Amino acid sequence: MNIETRLREELAALADQGLARRRRLLESPCAPRAMVEGREMLAFASNDYLGLAAHPELAQALADGALTWGAGSGASHLVSGHLGPHDLLEQRLAAFTGFARALTFSTGYLANLAVTPTLAPGRDDAIFADKLNHASLIDAAQLSRARHHRYPHNDMAALERLLAASDARSKVIVTDAVFSMDGDLAPLAELFALAERFDAWLVVDDAHGFGVLGPQGQGSLAHCGVPAHPRVILMGTLGKAAGVGGAFVAGSELVMDYLLQKARSYIFTTAQPPAVACALVKSLELIAAGDARRAHLQALIRQLQEGLAGLPWQLLPSQTAIQPLIVGDNEAALALSRALWERGLWVAAIRPPTVPVGTARLRISLSAAHSQADVASLVDALKALA
Ligand SMILES: *Cc1c(COP(=O)(O)O)cnc(C)c1O
Repeated sequence: MNIETRLREELAALADQGLARRRRLLESPCAPRAMVEGREMLAFASNDYLGLAAHPELAQALADGALTWGAGSGASHLVSGHLGPHDLLEQRLAAFTGFARALTFSTGYLANLAVTPTLAPGRDDAIFADKLNHASLIDAAQLSRARHHRYPHNDMAALERLLAASDARSKVIVTDAVFSMDGDLAPLAELFALAERFDAWLVVDDAHGFGVLGPQGQGSLAHCGVPAHPRVILMGTLGKAAGVGGAFVAGSELVMDYLLQKARSYIFTTAQPPAVACALVKSLELIAAGDARRAHLQALIRQLQEGLAGLPWQLLPSQTAIQPLIVGDNEAALALSRALWERGLWVAAIRPPTVPVGTARLRISLSAAHSQADVASLVDALKALA
C-alpha cells in the first residue's frame, strides 16, 4: 500500500536518529520499587512527587466512591454528568487555591485546551507563550486564530517588548509555572506585574508545582506570592503530586462562568468518573497535611544535588522534584539511561523534540516515597558511570 510508505519511512528515520520511543510495562503499582518487565527496579521516572499514587487511603476513597456513585458519570458536565463528588471537588479546589471557583477536567491536556483558545479566540487577540511551555499549551494556542508570540525562556524583557508592541483586543500570557523538562520556575511575580501593566490575562500551568511548592502545597503562585487575582487563571493537574488523575482550572467567577459556557474541551467531553473525584477530595486532604512529605522531598533534592556535584554532566538547578541531568547527545543520554537500567535503576532519557536539540538529558524525578538510601544508590551508580 502506497499510503503506508511514508509512515514506514518516518518510523525508520526516527529509529535511525535514536528517537524511537518505547513503553515499559509495569507489573506493580506506581512506587519507587517497581516490577518492570520481570525485573525489580528502583524508579526515578514518575511524576508521583508526594508518593500518593499508591496510597491506601486514596485507593479506599476510589473504591468507596465507586460503590456509592457507580463507575461512570454518564455524560458531560452540562448535560447530566455533573455529580455530587465533582461539585464537592470543585469547591475544595477553589478553597485550597484561594480562587473564587474551579472547574474540573479529566486531563490536564484538556484543561489547557479549554483556557487559552477560549480567552483569546480571534485574529485580533494575542497569545504570549514561553518557548519551553508544555506541548499541551502549544497545542492549545494552535486551536486559536490569535497571533502566537513565543518569547525566549523566562525572558521578561523580551515579553515586555512584545506586550508593548501589541494592540491586541485580548492579551493572554501563558506559562508553565515549573517547566516540566527543566524543573525551574517561571518568574511568576514579574509575569503578574507585566500582566497588570499591559492589561493581560496570566494563565499559569502548575502541573509540577501543585502539591509540591507553597504553604500546604498550594502551588507555585502561593510560593511566589502571586495573589488569586481575577486576571490570573490557574491550571493544575491531579495525576502528578495529587496521585490520581484529572486536572482543574481555577479563577474568578466571571472567567469560570465564561469557560463553562464556551470552552469546547469542557463542554464536549464526558465528566470524569465520580469515584475519581472522591479520591481527589481525599488527596487534597493528604496534600494539605503533607508538610512532612514535602520536607522529606526537599531533603532528597539537596542530597541529590550535593551527591552529583562534580560529575561531567550538568544538573540543572531546580527546587522541584524534577532534577534534569544534561547529557547533550541523544545516543549518549540513551546509553547512560541504559547503563543505569542494567544496574536496576530506572531514569528516563528525554530527547528532542521534547527538549531542544543537543540537550538530551536524564530526567531524574524524585518522590517523597523515595528513601535517602534510594537516592544514594542513584548517586553511587552515576558516579561509577562518569
Ligand atoms: C503533565 C502536564 C500536562 C498534562 O496533564 P495531564 O493531566 O497529564 O494531561 C500539562 N502541562 C504540564 C506542564 C504537564 O507537565
